[in-house]
Amino acid sequence: MLERKAVVRVREGLHARPATEFVKLARRFSADVEIVRGGKGANAKSAVKLMLLGVKESDEIVLRAEGPDASEAIEALSNFVEMEQLNEPGARTGAPASGAPAAGAPDAAGGAADSASLRGIPASEGEALGPTFAFFPAALEAPRRALAASEVEEEIARLMRALGALGAELAERGRAAAGAEDSLIVEALGEIARDVELAQRIEARIRAGQDAVWAACDAGEALASEFAGLADPYLRARAEDIRAVTRRIALALLGKSDASLADAPDGAVIVAEEVSAFDLAGLALDRIAGLVCIKGGATSHVAIIARAYGVPAVLGLDVEVSRMRAARVVALDGAAGEVAFDPDAATTQRLRARIEAGARQKAALQAYARIEPRTRDGRLIEVAANIGSLKEIDAARTAGAMGVGLFRTEFLFMERRRPPGEDEQTEVYGRLAEAFAPWPVIVRTLDIGGDKPAPGIDFPREDNPFLGWRGVRMCLDRPDVFKPQLRALLRASVRGNVKVMSPMIAEIEEVRRVKQLIDECRAELAAEGVPHGAPDFGIMVETPAAALLARELAREVTFFSIGTNDLSQYVMAADRLNPRVAHLNRPDHPAVLKAIKMVCDSAREAGVWVGICGEAAARPDLIPTFVAMGVSELSMSAASIPRAKKCIAEI
Ligand code: PEP
Ligand code: MG
Repeated sequence: MLERKAVVRVREGLHARPATEFVKLARRFSADVEIVRGGKGANAKSAVKLMLLGVKESDEIVLRAEGPDASEAIEALSNFVEMEQLNEPGARTGAPASGAPAAGAPDAAGGAADSASLRGIPASEGEALGPTFAFFPAALEAPRRALAASEVEEEIARLMRALGALGAELAERGRAAAGAEDSLIVEALGEIARDVELAQRIEARIRAGQDAVWAACDAGEALASEFAGLADPYLRARAEDIRAVTRRIALALLGKSDASLADAPDGAVIVAEEVSAFDLAGLALDRIAGLVCIKGGATSHVAIIARAYGVPAVLGLDVEVSRMRAARVVALDGAAGEVAFDPDAATTQRLRARIEAGARQKAALQAYARIEPRTRDGRLIEVAANIGSLKEIDAARTAGAMGVGLFRTEFLFMERRRPPGEDEQTEVYGRLAEAFAPWPVIVRTLDIGGDKPAPGIDFPREDNPFLGWRGVRMCLDRPDVFKPQLRALLRASVRGNVKVMSPMIAEIEEVRRVKQLIDECRAELAAEGVPHGAPDFGIMVETPAAALLARELAREVTFFSIGTNDLSQYVMAADRLNPRVAHLNRPDHPAVLKAIKMVCDSAREAGVWVGICGEAAARPDLIPTFVAMGVSELSMSAASIPRAKKCIAEI
């Protein structure tokens, strides 16, 4: 037996995706390979075992191999673990919905349906109206049969045939989805179906006398519980995958197949209690008009896939299954989170007209994407994009974005084992700056906390998370998290026009402390001889305190960007996520508009410019008011840019 020690350099360790890659590599060799960490070993050809071993970056491991190509296997696998991989291929991307539905926007007025509409979580914007396709897979009911000793070998052979068939089906679906956002999900599920650990656990139960279906269900549930108990949210989510795969194994053994979304007719709206990534993966989603589910949230895999394909979706809808099943037609507004089952004729007609008008309008507005948006009296207003990942760059440029007015960096930090390092952040911000140069790219420092925790940062449980340890408050307490981001921003600023902006500012001292940290980072980089720039520094005005102190704060910064989503919720004391108080949470409320005016007046006196990056920036009914108040930049989701430019040109 050959043995070699190695130190793991794979960023974030051998969790989901790298574990799959590692196992694929190990399977190329005929040698048996074991990976040992802290005295515990795992078969290197089982992704399931490997993930449960929990190998982290910087861990010391031992690789053991036995067989004809043992030395080549050890060489290849130790190279793999010792190679630092900056980017995590397949990391989940796609910006979760901001949590601020475009409620009240003129084109969303009234939501999906006025007749008996329900509200769920806005998961993917757009409107849909179509026949329902009810997707309610039956509960798996299988008799538990104790095997006679003579039946065991045949039962194991039956299991192996079922595993082989499922593996082939997933491979086929993986090929169909190749290159698409969800092909990695299919691949990960296929790995589980082929996993030796899972097969061995089922086989052991069969040998103990359980029939194959019973054994598969039990083994799958036990394994899923092990994953569900892990601290790492990435790995916890694998429990769902294991349940989905073992369900398929059991069905195959029973000679049944599940209801399939592939049977949904073109233009149907899928209604379901729950849809898994497995169900959606590899389907031609452009045929589907919409999706409505009782379970799920804005950041679930399903929401991410729906957004990636532009399928309007409302998840987390509080409704009886029976009502869903009984509905024949469903209307939904994915931006407002509204759903109406069997809408009346007037609602149907209105929605149909809106969908058609929306498509026509979108085509006509594209002509405005490339114009320079000036008011008739000659004022140029910059119309920029709000984005959350580099994947959105192309859409923003196509829409005519004049830079980025808000880069939400929290999405880089969420759904990872620990915060991204300084080098990785430098690369992301640098690429963003290059993509839009010479236009500015305003990168917001981490606005995480409250309802959006990030692994690697210990968040306390809070009774009022939106009034808690959020944004700059957390950052100032955690220089170990904050300084690498500031250093990365200083370094990236040599590659374009980077501006730095801090969220949730409530007092002057916070601004001074951020500036002091930036100075400290600059001095460190200079001492280290690392090239860096001197980006402008501004703040978000999104707390009533910042609006009231705008005059004083203006002396400390070069710009303000008004976050109307939070400013509305804090001025009106109305939770932005609570549909019951949505009528109060309005950026066009006189109280909020007065606060915005106050900020603009103070900024003008101090000579700093003001932008708006909350959802209200895209509202044609408010843009003229904002421009009249002195706002010179509006930042919004890419899809709204052409309409905003047209609106400015008409002022
Ligand atoms: C805002 O509060 O208006 C804003 C733009 O920030 P976020 O929606 O990310 O809180
Ligand atoms: Mg905000």
